[in-house]
Amino acid sequence: MTFCAAPFVHMVQNPDGQFRTCCMYEKPLEGKYANIEEAFDSEENNIIRQRMLSGEKLPECIKCDIDEMHEGKVKKSYRGEFNRLYGEFVKDPKFKFLEISVSNKCNFKCIDCGPRFSNQFGPTIENELPSEENFEDVVSLKILGGEPFLDKRNIKLLEMVPRHQIDLMIITNNSIFPNNYVLDLLADFKLVNLNISIDGIGKIAEYVRYGTTWSRFERHWYKWLDWINMDKHTRYFCPHFVLHSLNAPFFDDTIKWSNIPIMDWSWDFLHTPKWLNVSYLPDHVKEYILKKNKNVREPLKKFLYSNELDKKIFRQLLNQNDRHKFVPADSYNIPDVMEDYIDLFYRNLEL
Ligand code: SF4
Repeated sequence: MTFCAAPFVHMVQNPDGQFRTCCMYEKPLEGKYANIEEAFDSEENNIIRQRMLSGEKLPECIKCDIDEMHEGKVKKSYRGEFNRLYGEFVKDPKFKFLEISVSNKCNFKCIDCGPRFSNQFGPTIENELPSEENFEDVVSLKILGGEPFLDKRNIKLLEMVPRHQIDLMIITNNSIFPNNYVLDLLADFKLVNLNISIDGIGKIAEYVRYGTTWSRFERHWYKWLDWINMDKHTRYFCPHFVLHSLNAPFFDDTIKWSNIPIMDWSWDFLHTPKWLNVSYLPDHVKEYILKKNKNVREPLKKFLYSNELDKKIFRQLLNQNDRHKFVPADSYNIPDVMEDYIDLFYRNLEL
């Protein structure tokens, strides 16, 4: 499949003011636009639509191509979802779905993140909130951060939009459990998908998502479950796991801990930064990762062997230069539970 309805209905507003056709699309729009509507109606967005309609396979959509290798996912690719839900708007484009990060304010420094989405890596960047008129036709809203519950302007956004017509997806690191006022706003939405990022449990979570306090994470997890159980028709829980070279053998343990079936999870095999991409690991490490992942074995196998060991990239993983730059030295120690796995990196080492 190459065609996608996203450019006909959707726009992403990143904290740095960039606009994108979708969060997966590799390039932001190049022009400077005053607001989302302008970006949505722009000539360059129109050119993307025309390329889609002409049947071109867009190289910028590689992330969806990779996701479509993931058999076993209920929602296989973003492209599939756009085509399923918004195909009718291809003839007459309409702005139906906004994804927004109002800022990069965050309290975490996850190993796979960077300054674009966390101000713990660099300066704080903020967006203007869209004006109310933008939301007239919007039926889907995705809120990211930073950490959305850290920036009070997200509460303004929740207040401003026509909640009863909107399916809301909110992506959180689960470090902040909102107060009753915010929970009541959330309860007004047509549907709420609470997407909690979880890339491991216990010490692994604290290691790969620096800022996590596991006891707090667990406490909030159960509070959310209680809140969702109060109205299962309009609220649901979707944990999200990003599988990379440091947490890859621990996905099954994380699923087991959650007691949530794999079909209700979403997950990604991390593509960039390359030094965390499992497809560049040595074969014996790949074999170990596969053995440990029964739930997503087949798609993972395809992804693991989509590239070969790249010694230069693997050396970056061993040195973890990026991590050294961003976390204090005492947080750098590999947790005991990861040691056997990390030892494998040094077996048969000829770099
Ligand atoms: S195919 Fe994927 S990456 Fe491309 S526009 Fe659609 S959803 Fe975005």
